[in-house]
Amino acid sequence: MSQATDPVANLQTLIRCPSVTPQEGGALHALASMLAPMGFEVERMTFTEHGTPDIENLYARIGDGGPHLMFAGHTDVVPVGNEDAWTHAPFGADIVDGVMYGRGAVDMKGGIACFVAAVARHIEKHGAPAGSLSFLITGDEEGPAINGTAKLLQWAADKGERWDACILGEPTNPDTLGDMAKIGRRGSLTGVVTVIGTQGHVAYPHLADNPLRGMTQIAAALFDPPLDAGSDDFQPSNLEITTIDTGNTATNVIPARASAAFNIRFSDHWTVDSLKAEIERRIHAAAEAHGLRPDRASPIRFELEWKSPPSAVFLTRDDTLVSVVRSSIEAVTGRELELSTSGGTSDARYIKDYCPVVEFGLVGKTMHMVDECVDVADLETLTTIYERIIGDWFASRT
Ligand SMILES: [Zn+2]
Repeated sequence: MSQATDPVANLQTLIRCPSVTPQEGGALHALASMLAPMGFEVERMTFTEHGTPDIENLYARIGDGGPHLMFAGHTDVVPVGNEDAWTHAPFGADIVDGVMYGRGAVDMKGGIACFVAAVARHIEKHGAPAGSLSFLITGDEEGPAINGTAKLLQWAADKGERWDACILGEPTNPDTLGDMAKIGRRGSLTGVVTVIGTQGHVAYPHLADNPLRGMTQIAAALFDPPLDAGSDDFQPSNLEITTIDTGNTATNVIPARASAAFNIRFSDHWTVDSLKAEIERRIHAAAEAHGLRPDRASPIRFELEWKSPPSAVFLTRDDTLVSVVRSSIEAVTGRELELSTSGGTSDARYIKDYCPVVEFGLVGKTMHMVDECVDVADLETLTTIYERIIGDWFASRT
């Protein structure tokens, strides 16, 4: 019989593995040791790519028929930072006054520990699931994410794996367990626009073209008007200019070039392509309407570079999955769940190309912080929620 039914013990085991990206730190080995005794077939693979660290990953499956529910996540954690600032050892998993401390407690070894416990309890009560369950776990979420979930999905799909739904166990709740699940994510697009001028002496501006004069016009056109007003499912799209640079250190020199980097988090009003077209239209319009000197004919010369890869916006439209997740969370916590698309990108952006995905995990308040921690009571509650999701999802599919 499996020993993995206790999420607290599972999490202590995982936290005590110092798996700071790209180190495996024993965490995937520990996870394999929890899953194999339950009957999972566990596979470990290392992905490599020139210029990035090699990364270990894990895929484990129990059952061979459908329907197939996947749990996805990562065992890697962000660095400790200033270890002296921690009041508890970052890889100690100490429990004090009902709170467990350690790097990865909520992001997201805690989510994995609870899902493992939920599966163990489900199997203990009901035997093997009425279909298949799998764990798709990477060690490269907090790093470059090159040798992680995207390759792992492709690797599994290439050998014939197909999934009907996925739960991603990232910490989604802002304050209290049961507050929020994520059913989609905004897209993300980054670009750099460079205005090309002519360097010269500030006292002889008729011999130079100041690129910053053009940049102010282009920056204004990027900011206004707003890209959209949002939608039922998404916040309004937002563009932020993150830096404007000339490389100029002299106060008596007009610089030759000025570059502005910007990032857009965008709603479902846009695709990557339509948004790129809108940004290009705005920059062209500003460039046509203005010059680099008061008396200088337009247009402004510029270059626009898109940074890759962009992230597409997505929304999960699987009523069964969403309603099972919602009803399970609300039944266990007694709270009203918000289905959100807020926040940054996550590995869900890769999973959504293979199957519908909903994200739900612990309370994220302390993620990436000194003294990252989780309420031990939350571990039990999340395990109960996951166990209910597993039971209800398979029941809804058969
Ligand atoms: Zn995470």
